[in-house]
Amino acid sequence: MPARKENEVVWHHATVTRERREALNRHKGVVVWFTGLSGAGKSTIAHETEERLHRLGCRTYVLDGDNVRHGLCSDLGFSAQDRRENIRRIGEMVKLFLDAGMIALTAFISPFRSDREWVRSLVGKDHFIEIYCRCPLEVCKQRDVKGMYERASRGEIKEFTGISAPYEEPVQPELVLETHLLSLEDCVAQVVSLLQRREIFTEA
Ligand code: ADP
Repeated sequence: MPARKENEVVWHHATVTRERREALNRHKGVVVWFTGLSGAGKSTIAHETEERLHRLGCRTYVLDGDNVRHGLCSDLGFSAQDRRENIRRIGEMVKLFLDAGMIALTAFISPFRSDREWVRSLVGKDHFIEIYCRCPLEVCKQRDVKGMYERASRGEIKEFTGISAPYEEPVQPELVLETHLLSLEDCVAQVVSLLQRREIFTEA
């Protein structure tokens, strides 16, 4: 396919703005970005937080690693380059969710600091809440939710984060959840209270 010239694509401005959508939703749009090792609890906490927010009347959506890789990113593998492209596409997608005035919760290992920072700058730092699910590798291995660590340790999965691929911890995340020490309920309560402090929504 020939490369498209810049001037062939013109951004169409909607009359229904993000501010108007947020007013209708009665909460702000934000990206809640969970990061951490496989099995650290990103998915579980993201979905449970969504459940809480949904019951409070918020418009939410969880973007989950495996689900995205079945569709939007099904052509990508796990090399550093593909992981970067994976996060780039997800970043562009969450930006649209943000424009829709929604609360997007993402559960991706997203191992590279620079990729996460790229999304932060793409959506704007005030709308990006990075939550580090910190859990020792040993505990993640014991949990081995999907049997992936077992397979990775047998060498069946190449470039598996924590085993044969790196994970770069966030430097200044908005929140750290020690998921091996806290209950799921406590983790969710911390996320919800952070969103309230940030005035993303006010409890009715
Ligand atoms: P990830 O999405 O990071 O790969 P998952 O959410 O799929 O991780 O799995 C985390 C596992 O850890 C689940 O089996 C969950 O029940 C368990 N778990 C134990 N304590 C917690 C906690 N405080 N928060 C989240 N998950 C927890």
